[in-house]
Amino acid sequence: MNKVLILVVEDDAPIRNLITTTLKAHDYKYIIAPNGESAIMEASSHNPDIVLLDLGLPDIDGVEVIKRIRTWSNMPIIVISARSEDNDKIEALDSGADDYLTKPFSVEELLARLRVTQRRLYFMQTGSASSNSVFTNGRLKIDFASGCAYIGENELHLTPIEYKLLCLMAKNVGKVLTHTYITQKIWGSSWENDVASLRVFMATLRKKIESEPGSPQYIQTHIGVGYRMVKVE
Ligand code: CA
Repeated sequence: MNKVLILVVEDDAPIRNLITTTLKAHDYKYIIAPNGESAIMEASSHNPDIVLLDLGLPDIDGVEVIKRIRTWSNMPIIVISARSEDNDKIEALDSGADDYLTKPFSVEELLARLRVTQRRLYFMQTGSASSNSVFTNGRLKIDFASGCAYIGENELHLTPIEYKLLCLMAKNVGKVLTHTYITQKIWGSSWENDVASLRVFMATLRKKIESEPGSPQYIQTHIGVGYRMVKVE
């Protein structure tokens, strides 16, 4: 049996115990690192499937840990941050983290984030996100070669920016993308104006892809952070 291996990076022993007890009860394997340097060492020697990374570490900054891991690996990283570290959380996502949990979090939230990440991992490994020229998610289909997108059999009439935005979200399905990341990819800059434009384009895109734009199924809003396309079953 192939259990998922999680690297738990947390200096706070009670939180670390809560996490590892939860992991054990749900059939995950885990290794622990109490600081940033040991996290980098464990990540390189054990090649875990997922990293759970506390941002406030006693030695080096959690964001620095992400930057160092990202020089050689794309392993999914979920950051754990306190409310007071909101800016750090965004910096962590911009540095290549996949998702985040805010303290205090529940066991259910932790498990839900792990499931989302595992689905993304599976999706990356089966190659459907990158190597295939057609992306499908629920009723949404994007044919990258022809530059067309569909809901069911109906072709969507998207503006070039909406199409670019949809492709960017699709290629990062399961991952939270920050406003800065998206505006840089779409417009090559990230001025305040671009974030406002992004909201407008996201609203028009949703009207075209979502059956109920008020409670979107494909693209979630993370208030103050960014957006995530979720894998629809
Ligand atoms: Ca800490």
